[in-house]
Amino acid sequence: MSSRYDVLYQPVKLGELTLRNRLLFPGHGTGLSVDNTPDDAHIAYLATRARGGVALVVTEIAQIEQRAVYSGQALRIVSDKQIPGYRRLADAIHAEDSHVLVQIFHPGREMHKQPDGRQPVAWAPSEVPTDANHVMPKPMTVVEIAQTIEQFATAASRLQRAGIDGVEIVGTHGFLPSQFLNPATNSRTDQYGGDFDNRMRFLREVIAGIRSATASPFVVGLRICADEGHEQGLEISTSTRACAALDADGQLDYFSVTSGTVADHGGALGMIPPMGGDHPDIAAQARTIRQQVTVPVIATGRINQMAAAAEMVSRGDADLIGMVRANICDPEITNKTHEGRIEDVRVCIGCNQACIGHRHSGAGVSCIQNPVAGRELVYANPTPAPSSRRLLVAGGGPAGMKAASVAAARGHDVVLYERSARLGGQAVLAERLPGRAEFGGLISNLVHEMTTAGVNVVRNTEVDRNLVENELPDVVVIATGGMPYKPTLPGQEDAHIVDAWSVLRGEANVGSRVVVADWACDWIGLGIAEMLARDGCSVRLTVNGHMAGEQLHAYTRDRWVGELHKLGVEIIPYAKLYGADGQSVYCQHLSSQQPIVLEDVDTLVTALGHIGDRDLQTQLYGLATEVHAIGDCLAARSAEEAILEGLELALTI
Ligand code: SF4
Repeated sequence: MSSRYDVLYQPVKLGELTLRNRLLFPGHGTGLSVDNTPDDAHIAYLATRARGGVALVVTEIAQIEQRAVYSGQALRIVSDKQIPGYRRLADAIHAEDSHVLVQIFHPGREMHKQPDGRQPVAWAPSEVPTDANHVMPKPMTVVEIAQTIEQFATAASRLQRAGIDGVEIVGTHGFLPSQFLNPATNSRTDQYGGDFDNRMRFLREVIAGIRSATASPFVVGLRICADEGHEQGLEISTSTRACAALDADGQLDYFSVTSGTVADHGGALGMIPPMGGDHPDIAAQARTIRQQVTVPVIATGRINQMAAAAEMVSRGDADLIGMVRANICDPEITNKTHEGRIEDVRVCIGCNQACIGHRHSGAGVSCIQNPVAGRELVYANPTPAPSSRRLLVAGGGPAGMKAASVAAARGHDVVLYERSARLGGQAVLAERLPGRAEFGGLISNLVHEMTTAGVNVVRNTEVDRNLVENELPDVVVIATGGMPYKPTLPGQEDAHIVDAWSVLRGEANVGSRVVVADWACDWIGLGIAEMLARDGCSVRLTVNGHMAGEQLHAYTRDRWVGELHKLGVEIIPYAKLYGADGQSVYCQHLSSQQPIVLEDVDTLVTALGHIGDRDLQTQLYGLATEVHAIGDCLAARSAEEAILEGLELALTI
C-alpha cells in the first residue's frame, strides 16, 4: 500500500554512489571519538543509526590540520595512523547496507584554545575578529593557503584509502571556506579576495585538490549555509551564486544546505534551533539553491517529523533530508516510518539538553528521551528478564514512566500509580513555560512507550504503606518526584512571596511589580520572567550566577535572554536572595558581598530549585520488599537524569 512517505524511500545517486533512500544522519559533534579518531562507542553510535535505516551517515567534522582546532573532542584526519579507525567505521556502516562520508574541516578564524590551554594563531582570509569566540585572526599568506588546500586533499586521500565513500567539505557556519566566500570576512586584495571569482578561488582549489588526490567513485560534496543569519554572515544571494558556479564547474556531487553561524550569538540560534522561537525556513532556503543546481541537494535543520521531510522532497525543496536530533532521539525512525509504524516514533522535542548540550559541556552526545544514545555499548539490546516479577511504580513522572515501560518491555508485570489525574510530573509544569510547549512531547512519548509495553496505569491514587502491603509487589520503584525548595527568608512574613510552581499552575496572585529570584539558573527563572512580562508585569530577574540561564545550553539560554531583552526584563546577575519585607527584596552580591536592595516590589517569585519528595521512602522503611528510589525523589535534578535512572534500574530488575 502506498503512503505519503514513499517519496523518502526512493533511491538517489550522489555521484556514482547509489543510496537506497533519501534519509541521512548528518554531521554533528558527538564527543565520542578517542584520540580524535573513530573508536568503539563512536562507531556503535553511528552504526546504530545506519541499522535504523538511514542510507547515509555523515560524520562530524574531521579537522585536517593538527593545530587548527575548533573542538578538542572532534575527529581529525592528519595522519596515516588514523586510517585503521576510519576503516573500522567504514566497515561498520557498510555492514548495515548504508554509506559513510566524512566532513573535512578547517575552522579558519573560529579556532578554539589549544589542548594545552594557549590561544592559537588563528588563520583567516583577513584580520576580521569573531564576536562569539573573541578571536583576532592572522591573515593567511598565499603559502599558508596552498598548504591548507594540500591538507584538504591529503585528508580526502587518507579517507579514501580507509574505505570511506567520500567527503563533505564544511563550508558552513562561518568556517574557513565561508570566510573566503563572504565579503564581510574577506578583505584581501590578492587573487583570493575582492570580486566573486577571487573569493571563490580558495573553495575551487580545495575541490580540485581533492579530486586530484582521489579517484572515482569517491563522493565530494559541499556543506554550505544558505543564510548564516546575521548581518556579517554569508547571505543567500552569495551562497546561491556560489553553488550555481560550483555546479557549473561539474566537480561536486551534491550540496548540503543548512543555516546559521558560530560567529555570533544570534546567528548561532539558526544552527541547531531550540524549541520555541522562529526556525530558519530551511525548506525555502534549500529550494532556492536547488533551483540553481543540477546535482542533489540535502536539507538539514530542525526537521523532526517525517511528514515534514516527505513534504519537502515531494515539493522539490530538496532531494534528501538530514535529521540529526530526530535520529539521536529515535535511531529507528527511518525503519519505523517505512514499516508503517510512524506512531511508534519517539519524537525529538528540540530541548538541546543532552545532544548539543552535552557536546558543548564536554560530555558525549546523548538524549534526555533516549539515554541509550551515545551509550550504545552500555545499554543497547536489553535482554528479557530472567523471570517475570510484579513491579509497583509510585509516580508517573519521567523516571517512573521510563522505569515502568522498560521493565514491562522486558517481561515484568508492572503497575504504575500516579497521585494526580495527569501523567508527566514536573514535565507538565515545564511545558507551561513560554516556548516550552514541545516539552510535553516527552510525556506523550513515554505514555506511548508504557502503553506499547503493557504497563497498567492507575491515576488519582497516592501510594502509601497500606497500599504496598495490600498489593505485595516483588519490587517497589519510588519515583515520587520533588517539590519547590522554599527556605525561610528573613522578613518573609511581611512580604508577598509565591513560588514559581504555583505561578505555573495558575494558583498564585502576582502583583504588577515583580522580582523573580532565580537560584538554579535554568529554565524556570527565565520562563517565569518571560511569562509575567508578557502578562504586563514589570519584571526584574535576580540570578544567583554569572548570567541568566548559565546552566542551560547556550542556544536555549541565548534565545531566552534575547526574548527577555525585547520584553524589557532587567536581569541582575551575581545576586543571591537574602530576604524580603514589605515592598523590598534583599540580595547579596556574590562577589563583593555587598547588599543589592530592590525597592517597589509587589511580589517576590522564588525559583530556588526543588527538593526530593521522600515521604514514601520514609513510610516504606523496614518493609521486607525490594525498594528502589529514582529521579528527583532520590536527588532533585532534571528529566534527563530521571529518565536515565528509570532505564538503568529497569535493566537490572
Ligand atoms: Fe531532541 Fe532533546 Fe533528545 Fe536532543 S536531547 S535529541 S533535542 S529530545
